Amino acid sequence: MKICILGAGVLGVTSAYELAKRGHEVTVIERQSAPANECSFANGGQLSYSHAEPWANPHVFPKLFKWAFQEDAPLVLRPSADPHMLRWGLLFLLNCLPSKARANCETMLRLGLYSKQKMAELRADTKVEFSFLGNGTLHVFDNQQSFDGARRHAEFQSKLGCDETAMTPEECFKLEPTLANTTKKLVGGMYAPIDESGDIHFFTVNLAKYCAEKYGVKFLYNQEIARLHKTDNRITHVEIEGQHRDYMAGFDAYVMAMGSHSAVQLRKLGLYVPIYPMKGYSISFNSSEHSPKVSITDDAAKQVYTLLGSRMRVAGTAEFAGYNEEVRKVRIDPLKRGMAELFPKAPMEELTEWACLRPSTPDGPPIIGKTPIGNLFMNTGHGTLGWTQGAGSSRLLADIIDNKPTEIPLSGLDIERNLIKL
Ligand SMILES: Cc1cc2nc3c(=O)[nH]c(=O)nc-3n(C[C@H](O)[C@H](O)[C@H](O)COP(=O)(O)OP(=O)(O)OC[C@H]3O[C@@H](n4cnc5c(N)ncnc54)[C@H](O)[C@@H]3O)c2cc1C
Repeated sequence: MKICILGAGVLGVTSAYELAKRGHEVTVIERQSAPANECSFANGGQLSYSHAEPWANPHVFPKLFKWAFQEDAPLVLRPSADPHMLRWGLLFLLNCLPSKARANCETMLRLGLYSKQKMAELRADTKVEFSFLGNGTLHVFDNQQSFDGARRHAEFQSKLGCDETAMTPEECFKLEPTLANTTKKLVGGMYAPIDESGDIHFFTVNLAKYCAEKYGVKFLYNQEIARLHKTDNRITHVEIEGQHRDYMAGFDAYVMAMGSHSAVQLRKLGLYVPIYPMKGYSISFNSSEHSPKVSITDDAAKQVYTLLGSRMRVAGTAEFAGYNEEVRKVRIDPLKRGMAELFPKAPMEELTEWACLRPSTPDGPPIIGKTPIGNLFMNTGHGTLGWTQGAGSSRLLADIIDNKPTEIPLSGLDIERNLIKL
C-alpha cells in the first residue's frame, strides 16, 4: 500500500518504520525542517513503562482546586472560555472516578509493557543510537501519605505483571549515590527496574535516517498541512499551505500523527476528538559526576531528572494554555529549584530552556487505529507517555492497517470511546 503519515514526531517516525519494514511505500509530511522538532524534541527522556497512572485519578481531583490558584503548581487546569478545553476538562473530571482511573491505568500498563518488548526489538533491529540507559526509574517521596498511596498502587500494578520495589531513603541513596546530598527530607522511594531512558530527539532523527536509507521512506519537510480532503468517506488528498496551494494525492491510507494539532485537523473533517495541548517545560545542561545514572522522578513536584549522554534533562509541569508554546519563567523556575534541592552539588552549565505541547486525552491512553473515515488511521494522543508508548503503539497501528490480529487487546485505545461527530 501507499501510505501517507502526517507528522514526523516520535509517533510518525515509529509508524513509518513499522509500515515500511512490512513493504509499504511510506511518505511522511512534516511542517518543520527536520523530524522531532516539536513535542519529541526535549522531553523528560524516561521510558517509564511502569508509570501507568493517568493524570485523571481520584488523588489528583482534590488537589485541582488548590493548584488552580498556584502559578508554579505541577498541574494548572483552569476553566477557560475555549469550548474544546471545557469539554476536555469535563471528561477529565469524569475520568477521575476510581473505576475509570483503574481501567485507564490497566490499558496504559498493558501498552507500556508491550512497548518495552517492541522497543527492545526495534533497538536490536536498527541499532539506532540515542544515549540509551537501562537503569530503571526511581520515584522519590517527601510525603508519607503519598508514599503509602504509591505502595498500594504498586501492589495493584504487580497483579498486572509490573513489579516495583519500595525503598527506604538509605536504600535510595545506595541505588543512586548522587541523591544522598539532597536537601529534601525524603521518606522513601519506589524503584521500577523495568524502566529505561534515552534521548527522544536523537532516537527520532536517527530512526528517520534509517527508514530513509534502508526502506526508501520519503520525508517531505517544510510542508505545512492546511487540511485533508475527503470524498465518499475516504481521504482523497492533502492540501499544503502556501501562496500556491499544493495538493498531495494517490495514497491508499493516511496516518494522523500530528500530536496536539491532530484534533484541529480532525475537526475540519467533522470529527471531534478530545486531544488537547497540555504544555510542559524542560531545562537541559551539561552533566557532571553529580548527575544521577538512574532516572529520578520527584513525586510531589511531578518532575523528572534524566541523564542523556553528556547532558542532563529536568522536565515536568502541566499547564493548559491553548496552543501557546511561549517559555514562561514562572514555570521554568520550579525545574531549576527542584534540581538545586535534589542534586545541590550539580552545576547547571550551558542551560537551555524549552516548552512544548503534549497531545493529551482526558482519560490518559492514546488513540490508535481506525477512524470513522475509511482510510484514515490515528496514532496520537499519548500525552505524558508518547516516548514510552511509541514502539508498541506503532506496532499496533501497523497490524490494524494490515488487518492482522494485534498482540494485545485494543480496548481503551479506540477513537470511539470519546468521539463526538459534528
Ligand atoms: C516537558 C515534557 C516532558 C515529557 N517527558 C516524557 C517522558 O519522560 N517520557 C515519555 O514517554 N513522554 C514524555 N513526554 C511526552 C512525549 O514527549 C510526547 O507524548 C511525544 O513526543 C508526542 O509525540 P508525537 O509524535 O505525538 O507529537 P510531536 O512530536 O509533536 O509530533 C507531531 C508532528 O506533527 C507536525 N505537525 C503538526 N501540525 C502540522 C501541520 N499542520 N503540518 C505538518 N506537520 C505538522 C509537528 O511539526 C510535529 O513534528 C513529555 C512531554 C513534555 C512536553
